[in-house]
Amino acid sequence: MKRYTLTNGSVIECEEKRIGVGATAEVYLSLDKSTIVKIYKSKGKTTQDVLEQIIGKYNALRPLDNITRDYWQTRLAWPNGIISGEQLGITAPYISLPIKLTNLTSLSWRKANLTRETRGTWKAHLAICLKLAGAVRLCHLSGLCHSDLSPNNVLVDPKTGDIGMIDLDGLVVLDHITPLVVGTPKFQPPEIVMGKAGPSIQGDEHALAVMIYKTLMFHHPLEGKRIFKGLTAEEEDRNIFGSQPLYVQHPRDKRNRPEGWYMPVEKLGPHLPPLFERCFIEGLFNPEARPRADEWESALLKTLSRVITCSNNDCIGRCFVLTDDFPARCPFCGDTSQRGRMIPILRVYKSNHNNRGVFYRDDSDGGASLIVVNPGQKLYSWDINSGIKPDNAMDREPKVMFEFDASSDLWKILNLNCECLINVYDKGRNYIVRGSHAELNDGNWLIFGSYNTERVARIEFHKLN
Ligand SMILES: [Zn+2]
Repeated sequence: MKRYTLTNGSVIECEEKRIGVGATAEVYLSLDKSTIVKIYKSKGKTTQDVLEQIIGKYNALRPLDNITRDYWQTRLAWPNGIISGEQLGITAPYISLPIKLTNLTSLSWRKANLTRETRGTWKAHLAICLKLAGAVRLCHLSGLCHSDLSPNNVLVDPKTGDIGMIDLDGLVVLDHITPLVVGTPKFQPPEIVMGKAGPSIQGDEHALAVMIYKTLMFHHPLEGKRIFKGLTAEEEDRNIFGSQPLYVQHPRDKRNRPEGWYMPVEKLGPHLPPLFERCFIEGLFNPEARPRADEWESALLKTLSRVITCSNNDCIGRCFVLTDDFPARCPFCGDTSQRGRMIPILRVYKSNHNNRGVFYRDDSDGGASLIVVNPGQKLYSWDINSGIKPDNAMDREPKVMFEFDASSDLWKILNLNCECLINVYDKGRNYIVRGSHAELNDGNWLIFGSYNTERVARIEFHKLN
C-alpha cells in the first residue's frame, strides 16, 4: 500500500501497483477506487503554483452565473488535490468507462473488439461528440485551453454515449502558463505543425473538429488518397497536416478523397457539414474561422434529433440521420426496406404568448427545429423548452414518449410527466393528462406547456423514399 499526503493535510492510500505510466507521470488508484493519484516523474515545468490555479481560480467545475456544474462532475476528471512533499502530484476523480475514444473512431477496431451488444449504435457517437463539445466549451469559458485534445484523453461508453475526459492537469491558462505539451500528432492545427504558433483556443477548436469528424465518419478529415512522392513519412505528415492540408470531402477539390468506403458528409444532414467545411477549408489557414465549441454543440443537438433507426440488425450504424429529402436508404449498409413507410416528424417552434397563435422557428438557442419520431423515443425538458441545454437541465426525467402500434398502424404520444400537454386539431384542442395517450395526426399541433419558454410542434407525416 502507498500513502500520500495532500497539501490540505489529508492522507490518501493507494494500491501498490500502478494503473498507468506515461512519459511524465505514474498513476495509482486509491484503495476505495474513487480517486487516482498522479505522481510526476520530475517537477520540471509542472509547478504547485500552476496546479493550484487549475484547481482553484480556473476550475471549470465551479458554478458560474448560478448554473451548477453537477452534470460535469463525473465527466471531467478535474484535479481536486495536490500531493505535497518530495514528489509533486495531483489527485483527481477516477472515471471508469470501458474504452478510449481512439478505439471507437476506428471502424476495424470496433468490428474486431466489440460485439453487437457492446458496440451500441452510431447515435451514441453523436452523443459522445455533443458531450465532448460541451466539455471543451466549459474549459474555454473558464479561460483555459486544453492544448492536448485527442481521443487518447477521452474515455467513452459506446452503449450509452457517455464520456469522461482525463489528464486535465496539463491545461493551459492562456497567456499565463507555459504548456507542457503542444498537442498530439494529427490533431494539431497547421499553425502548430508548422511551428508558427503555440496552444490556443483556436488550436483546441481544430482538434475538437477532427475528433468529432473521426468519431462520426471513422476516418481523418485530412488523410485521403493524395500521395506525395519521394518524401519521408515525417515530411509527408508535415505536408498533410501542416503546409498543404486538404479536406478529404472538399466539395470542389476531389484529389484527397478518403481511401475505401466512406459516408458522404452530406449524409450528416444540414447542420454539421457547413461547420466541417468552415474548419477544414478556410479554418485550416485562418484559425479565427473555426467553429466554436458551442456551435458544434448546437449542430450536434439538432442532428441527434434527426436520427432514424435502420431496420437492418447487422448494420454497423444501426441508425442514420434523416436528411431533408427523407431518403429511406441507410448510408451505412444500403438498406432500403423502409421505403414507402410513413414516419412522423415534429417541426418545433417557439410560441409567442404576446401574439397568440403566432409561432416562429426555434433555431436561435440551440434547440432542435425538427425532431424525427422513432418508436419508444422520449422527449426531455431540453427538447420541449427554449433555452435549456442537456447539461444545464435541472429536470432530467423524460416528459413524453412516442409509441407505434403496428396492428392499428397508429402513432401515439404518451404524457409521462408533462405538466400541460395539449393536442390542437382542426376542430379544437384537447388536454392530454399525465399517463394518457393521444394519436398523432398529420397537421395537428402539440403544445408542450403554458409558459413562454415552452415549445410548440407541428406534426407532419412524411413518406420515406
Ligand atoms: Zn443500416
